[in-house]
Amino acid sequence: MTDIIIVGGGLTGGTLACALAEKGLQVAVVDQVGPHSPTPTDGRSFALSRSSFHILSKLGIWETLDDVTPITKIHTSDGVLPQWVEFNEMDVTGGPLGYVVDSALLKAKILEKVFSFKNITLHAPQSVLRMERTDFHAFIETNGGETLKAPLCIAADGRFSHLRTEAQIPLIKWSYDQVAIVCHLTHTLPHNNQAFEHFLPWGPLAFVPRPGNESGLVWSVEKEKADVFLALSPEDFAAEIQAHFGDCLGQFTLSSKRWSYALSVCLPKRLIDTRLALVGDAAHTFHPVAGQGLNVGFRDVSVLADVLTEAFSLGLDLGASQVLKTYQKRRRGDIIAMTLLTDGMVRVFSNQSRVLARVRSVGFGVVKYVTPLRHMMIRHAMGMRGHAPFLWARERSTFQPTPKPISKNNPKGATHKKSV
Ligand SMILES: Cc1cc2nc3c(=O)[nH]c(=O)nc-3n(C[C@H](O)[C@H](O)[C@H](O)COP(=O)(O)OP(=O)(O)OC[C@H]3O[C@@H](n4cnc5c(N)ncnc54)[C@H](O)[C@@H]3O)c2cc1C
Repeated sequence: MTDIIIVGGGLTGGTLACALAEKGLQVAVVDQVGPHSPTPTDGRSFALSRSSFHILSKLGIWETLDDVTPITKIHTSDGVLPQWVEFNEMDVTGGPLGYVVDSALLKAKILEKVFSFKNITLHAPQSVLRMERTDFHAFIETNGGETLKAPLCIAADGRFSHLRTEAQIPLIKWSYDQVAIVCHLTHTLPHNNQAFEHFLPWGPLAFVPRPGNESGLVWSVEKEKADVFLALSPEDFAAEIQAHFGDCLGQFTLSSKRWSYALSVCLPKRLIDTRLALVGDAAHTFHPVAGQGLNVGFRDVSVLADVLTEAFSLGLDLGASQVLKTYQKRRRGDIIAMTLLTDGMVRVFSNQSRVLARVRSVGFGVVKYVTPLRHMMIRHAMGMRGHAPFLWARERSTFQPTPKPISKNNPKGATHKKSV
């Protein structure tokens, strides 16, 4: 018997476990991957928003991340029209536009934090065989022969969530005819902490800055094209990127292997069910065009931790439908908005239609010259709009970044996590 069972001890599940354990709840985490198996790198360089920064800082995870690259400028351009817009850190107060963190590093540090709590028990490597829910409890039976019991079970088990399927929650889903190719590239010119999003007709080509003269690439391309690009030699692949992106970062060299991810949308019709709540990719999967999946997942974590710790302090039943409904109500809008926004971006940009080209042309002009609109978009991407739960609201008021010393990759002395 425990207060909460979390199935999936990954990025969102692990973070949620820490947020709840910090408030004194007993948490059981089940994950199919053992904690001591080496964290496999999946190639992703996560662009994290201000809201994610606050959540991870509040839990003391941020300060343990030693390789974080601030983003001070985002250059977006159309692959067909001579149109571009820049989003600049000068447009917002209090620090950079976002940060880039390597996926394996983030996973390892979240796990390290999980281990620091005596009131978290990790059941791994074990996967869920069966979930049963009654009026009072949720039971999880694992393939390790254990049965866990709690008033609430949380599904943080990713985009193919087993628990969501068991609960028969209906899904709205569609897939894109696109695959994301992910890799790292070194370049002869410094990125100066700039991220680039180049909207080509068959899919966006995005670079985020990594330490040194290296950037993380996410290139969404049609499936057939992806097969061809993945089969190219490292030199030919780098030349292909060069041909599509140009030389503003100098000469490219492939510096990692290439990973590929099929892209789809999955939106559960409910975020809750009897004694069950969904978070992270189990609650929403969308196109990575805006680099927002994990940021939205961390906001689920923040709101759910907010709702559950309040219920816990009042001695309420943690799995009561009123508690779960509060969570769903607070998260629905952000999740639907981000799904529609990312889908709209893919449809408007990954397109050769002349009508849509005109729409894009007008859109770029409006965003470029209407400053309040640009600021609103930045604040939305940074997760700074809407309801701010306690997990990051309090942190925000004390957020006083000091400039980082000027370096080659940081010519403006951009804020760095060590200084906040
Ligand atoms: C190409 C690409 C680039 C992206 N870039 C960004 C970005 O820049 N910024 C951003 O915010 N987001 C980005 N995302 C989205 C981000 O990767 C996801 O939102 C995030 O990884 C979801 O984390 P999660 O913890 O919810 O799920 P996962 O990371 O999938 O974790 C699920 C966990 O559950 C465990 N599990 C699964 N099934 C079971 C089971 N049956 N029993 C026990 N355990 C189980 C797994 O072992 C795992 O530990 C990107 C996505 C893609 C595809």
